[in-house]
Amino acid sequence: YDAKGTARGLRVYAPDLDTGDPRRLALVSELRTALATGGIEVHVQPQARTTTGEVVSVEALVRWDHPETGRISPEEFVPIAERTGLIGALTTRVLDRSLAACAAWRAAGHDLGIAVNLSARSLHDADLVDEVARLLARYGVPAGRLTLEVTEGSVMADPARAIALLHQLRDLGVRLSVDDFGTGYSSLSYLKRLPVHEVKIDRSFVTGLQNGSEDVAIVRAVTDLGRHLGLEVVAEGVEDAATWELLREMGCDLVQGWHLSRPMPAAELLPWLRLRPVAPAVLRAV
Ligand code: C2E
Ligand code: MG
Ligand code: MG
Ligand code: MG
Repeated sequence: YDAKGTARGLRVYAPDLDTGDPRRLALVSELRTALATGGIEVHVQPQARTTTGEVVSVEALVRWDHPETGRISPEEFVPIAERTGLIGALTTRVLDRSLAACAAWRAAGHDLGIAVNLSARSLHDADLVDEVARLLARYGVPAGRLTLEVTEGSVMADPARAIALLHQLRDLGVRLSVDDFGTGYSSLSYLKRLPVHEVKIDRSFVTGLQNGSEDVAIVRAVTDLGRHLGLEVVAEGVEDAATWELLREMGCDLVQGWHLSRPMPAAELLPWLRLRPVAPAVLRAV
């Protein structure tokens, strides 16, 4: 049980996607069950205008509460779903729960947008466009209230095919966003070719914004680029008022992060909105 032994032990239990290790096999079958029986839910994290503090949309973030081990991170189970053919069912589940929630908010008089993350595999799924259209119609949500987030990496797996699919989604009237922008390897040339409405500056550049001048320069450059291309610019990972204020000065449109709210169950959003002060502290101080 020395440090070395513990490290070896941990390695044994870590899920290895490239071998048939037992933990991974168990997770796959448990994930399949959870998808069939409702153990997969959607939490939402609000997004606000930097200038007014108004909450105009949310991002849907998938959550899996495992009956024995507790909550498992999407960073762990989304890649497993991708490699085992479960990603289609996962994406359908998240879209369904997200649009159901959006419809409920609309019925209560709140015209909010919702953003859903797409994985690389979903960008190769010929059924996705019909599926999105079917679910929008079922819940009566206007296409323009749904944003689909893709990463540069997921597009780069097969750019021609992904870009063709993005055009089809765009033709439905759905909004498209490039998530984790700045972490891919082809940012500038591909941004011009992607038929997107929005860029989301990766949290790794945003969270330390006060500390490093390099991050300030990067965020300012991406914000200017987005605005000149006519794109809405969103910053994720905004953890304090000073960062929000800096982003507002730079001309970033929307903020998302712990300073506004942590992700919460979809059913808690309207109560949270009701209890929230009209404007956050950063705006009252301006
Ligand atoms: P993402 O789409 O970039 O989501 C943002 C992540 O940052 C979320 O982690 C969110 O909880 C976290 N976050 C938000 N605000 C803050 C903040 O102020 N500080 C810090 N440190 N973190 C913050 P989460 O929910 O664990 O999701 C991780 C990733 O898993 C997502 O990154 C996304 O790539 C993926 N994911 C989540 N839900 C889905 C889904 O439904 N489908 C697919 N395909 N992927 C998903
Ligand atoms: Mg996202
Ligand atoms: Mg992101
Ligand atoms: Mg991320």
